[in-house]
Amino acid sequence: MDVSNTPSALLAPVDQQLVDGVLARSRRALAKTITLIESTRNDHQVRAQRVLTTLLPYTGKAIRVGISGAPGAGKSTFIETLGIYLIESGKRVAVLAVDPSSSVSGGSILGDKTRMELLCQQEGAFIRPSPSAGALGGVADKTREAMLVCEASGFDVIIVETVGVGQSETTVAGMVDVFVLLQLPNAGDDLQAIKKGIVEIADLIVYNKADIDERAAQFARVQMQTALTMLRSNSPNWRPPVLTVSALAKRGIPEFWAEIERYRSTMSASGEFEAKRRRQAVNWMWGLIDSGLRHYFREHPVVHAALPGLLHDVAEGRTTPGAAAYRLLHSLNG
Ligand code: GDP
Repeated sequence: MDVSNTPSALLAPVDQQLVDGVLARSRRALAKTITLIESTRNDHQVRAQRVLTTLLPYTGKAIRVGISGAPGAGKSTFIETLGIYLIESGKRVAVLAVDPSSSVSGGSILGDKTRMELLCQQEGAFIRPSPSAGALGGVADKTREAMLVCEASGFDVIIVETVGVGQSETTVAGMVDVFVLLQLPNAGDDLQAIKKGIVEIADLIVYNKADIDERAAQFARVQMQTALTMLRSNSPNWRPPVLTVSALAKRGIPEFWAEIERYRSTMSASGEFEAKRRRQAVNWMWGLIDSGLRHYFREHPVVHAALPGLLHDVAEGRTTPGAAAYRLLHSLNG
């Protein structure tokens, strides 16, 4: 499907309506556009890419914040408190989710309607659960595209929530400007995060539930700050700060947001902010090419015919994986 540089004049009237609605900040049009993006139908995908291309010039103005943490760390409570604080400061906030396990659990992290109830009711908020893992092109790609549509619809802050499962933290860190790790003040949580390499990709670490035991929270903060001095920094201009907050008691939220703003201004001044976005866009394209090629390869009739036999031979040790891969790859050359 060639949808590059598609002038908006080529949009079907129904899709032009979506574009106009999104730009006019209609939440209904926004939700419908995201549904189109998440559709697995081929014709819907062609339309969705055209709509996205038309909206692209209006994207990029929001700050994209990723928030990760183990289940129970307080992500949704934190996002709700933060969201309401931002809305009261005159900002519009969209919350999206990436939950790679949503097909397994049958639900999704934002799927539970009782979560973020107060934020849901706000005029300036838009909340969208994770697309199902069966979505064509992957859960994260759909969320990336939804993020662009939210930006075109004038949201100032896009929060992407992810749960600490598999590779989801790395995936979300690769699509946002600033990646926040929400932790609980107990040593087990810290060790887990350090071991899994998540601390290394965090631009900001936040200890939540400081209201329960302020001293334990402060202790955890200092410990983490010390641990961080031993890790390589992602940027010469940014050393990840460690904060303590209470999402429930609504403490530390303005201080948290001040750090996000400081991150944006520091990284913008050094040129790293834009460089990161450019790098993310290029990586995204390569990711799509990789998965597209894999799909194309598997579906190619020659490969399709030869694959079962070769898989069997490799499993039985009758041919080497290298030789089998070589044969399959070269069978495409005719
Ligand atoms: P998530 O699984 O990471 O989204 O965590 P939730 O936001 O659902 O919170 C899990 C539990 O911790 C809930 O019972 C919250 O009320 C509670 N909680 C969240 N933040 C705080 C906090 O700052 N202080 C206290 N005491 N409890 C909190």
